[in-house]
Amino acid sequence: MSTQHKDVYLVIGGSGFVGRHIVEQLVARGDVVSVFDIVQRHHDVPFYSGDITDEQDVLNAIRKSGTTCIIHTASPQHGAKDPSIYYKVNVDGTQAVINAAVAAGVRKLVYTSSAGVVFDGKDVINLDERAPYPEKPFDAYNDSKAKGEALILEANGKGGLLTVALRPAGIFGPGDRQMMVGLYQVYQRGQTHFQVGGNNNLFDYTYVGNIAQAHLLAAEKLVDSTTSDSTSITSASTDATLV
Ligand code: NAD
Repeated sequence: MSTQHKDVYLVIGGSGFVGRHIVEQLVARGDVVSVFDIVQRHHDVPFYSGDITDEQDVLNAIRKSGTTCIIHTASPQHGAKDPSIYYKVNVDGTQAVINAAVAAGVRKLVYTSSAGVVFDGKDVINLDERAPYPEKPFDAYNDSKAKGEALILEANGKGGLLTVALRPAGIFGPGDRQMMVGLYQVYQRGQTHFQVGGNNNLFDYTYVGNIAQAHLLAAEKLVDSTTSDSTSITSASTDATLV
């Protein structure tokens, strides 16, 4: 039997597509959860308004909510005009989240990375977390996600903090604000008569509910081997995982 106490969750980016599903699953199983985001789109759990590039904003939310586990899903969406926003939020902002977590003695930090961190424009087949980041990243978004992910993994063990990163590929499901919207815009612009490739391109898509569940499982399995029972997976599981 595990002797672990229940975590108190803070979902950073919890007003977003993935973050919202994580919040809903936590609420459904009776966990205590708050949201930290720059915008509030839902009103049923405690909400902390703030920007992750402001360490003090994050620290205040952690302290007020009594957070023991952060799930950090925040990121600007792909396609921003000014790529500097990606580095500001995904790299500097993620570092601020780590700093605040360590300062407040948070136990766990789960990060939503992206399968794009190992994409350089060439086919990616059967790659796992042992593959290095590409020398030439595909674009600023993916480069910033890789740099943010590296910070998260390096922070494992700092001040007792345990970290893990998940790498979803394409995500579909209720609340999607990118994929179906993009496909529909292509249709509206009458661009459907183009074909890229020989009709044999493959890409991974995962239902958002499964992505959310993966975050909950990652948080659950992220335990310190010195305080866990023998059935728990230790912090060796903190390598990035392709979901
Ligand atoms: P989303 O845009 O719906 O949600 C992101 C949330 O983060 C938004 O609510 C936004 O307001 C918030 N946010 C942005 N900047 C912030 C800041 N500086 N401080 C605080 N909050 C901020 O995006 P999503 O599709 O839910 O993506 C969630 C995560 O999953 C992201 O990290 C993204 O890189 C990753 N991801 C998404 C996909 C996908 O297909 N949607 C695929 C792979 C990885």
